[in-house]
Amino acid sequence: MSLMIEEPLLKIEHLKKNFPIRGGVFGKKIGGVQAVDDVSFEIQRGETLGLVGESGCGKSTTGRMLLRLLEPSEGKIFFDGKDITNLSKQGLRKIRGQMQMIFQDPYASLNPRHTIERILEEPLIVHGVKDKEARKKKVLQLLETVGLNSYHTNRYPHQFSGGQRQRIGIARALSLNPKLIIADEPVSALDVSIQAQVLNLMKDLQKKFELTYLFIAHDLGVVRHISDRVGVMYLGRLVELANSEELYLNPKHPYTQALLSAVPIADVDYKKERIVLQGDVPSPANPPKGCSFHTRCPLAIEKCSIERPIFKEVEPGHYAACHLHG
Ligand code: SF4
Repeated sequence: MSLMIEEPLLKIEHLKKNFPIRGGVFGKKIGGVQAVDDVSFEIQRGETLGLVGESGCGKSTTGRMLLRLLEPSEGKIFFDGKDITNLSKQGLRKIRGQMQMIFQDPYASLNPRHTIERILEEPLIVHGVKDKEARKKKVLQLLETVGLNSYHTNRYPHQFSGGQRQRIGIARALSLNPKLIIADEPVSALDVSIQAQVLNLMKDLQKKFELTYLFIAHDLGVVRHISDRVGVMYLGRLVELANSEELYLNPKHPYTQALLSAVPIADVDYKKERIVLQGDVPSPANPPKGCSFHTRCPLAIEKCSIERPIFKEVEPGHYAACHLHG
């Protein structure tokens, strides 16, 4: 009997993104920022992968590259078994409905001059749903799915609260029956009480529609409640990746340990003294040699400033890039 191993829904290999820095009168390239530097991971069908790190660590750039909203400088992206790295605009349009994004600030991503009906109808029109009645029915279904009412259809984004607007953003993302949703800080702008409601809604929708999520956040506390596995990024690189419980109970990388020590105790079982990192995140235009975390790492040894640690499996299913682990 042969065992079928299911292919991941999404797989990225050695993904890189370099933004050129231009200067002088002629705008010549004078340098570059390595925003994403050799990132690889997979997301299984129905799984939620959390991606965490401080602002500027490359997590949002990674998310945008997966949807090809940004072109990768190097590396490969596979979606549903297909290499989509160099897919043409036409080819991309065909799969766009299957990969959707939820943004941090739904207000900025919803057209303020359009009613909710029009906002939710638009992706359907773009993807060729010509029958107006069918579109109307779908809009009402979507509103109900995210906990809003049919009388909301003629209202404008500014007439909703932040939490309701995020529900509209989620409804829009669901309109074309996607397989993958990339949620970029979807609850960061919301009050804590509303955050829990939106996270619960996302969990329910995941079950109902068999969705796969990439959940991007700067807060490890938020990511824990929704993620099966969590990846931690620092200066454009993945520094740790593990099953969610394992990462929170047994973090290997000093950067993850520092991030976790800042999460309120009720949220994590990792009870350690607060580790306050010294100094700012170095500029990605000029990252430190060796381990890019060595300038702030409280456990750094001599080797750390010379040799870059390899991202490798340190325990089954637990990956880290640190000289203290192998
Ligand atoms: Fe710290 Fe060295 Fe590990 Fe980097 S490799 S995280 S500097 S101990």
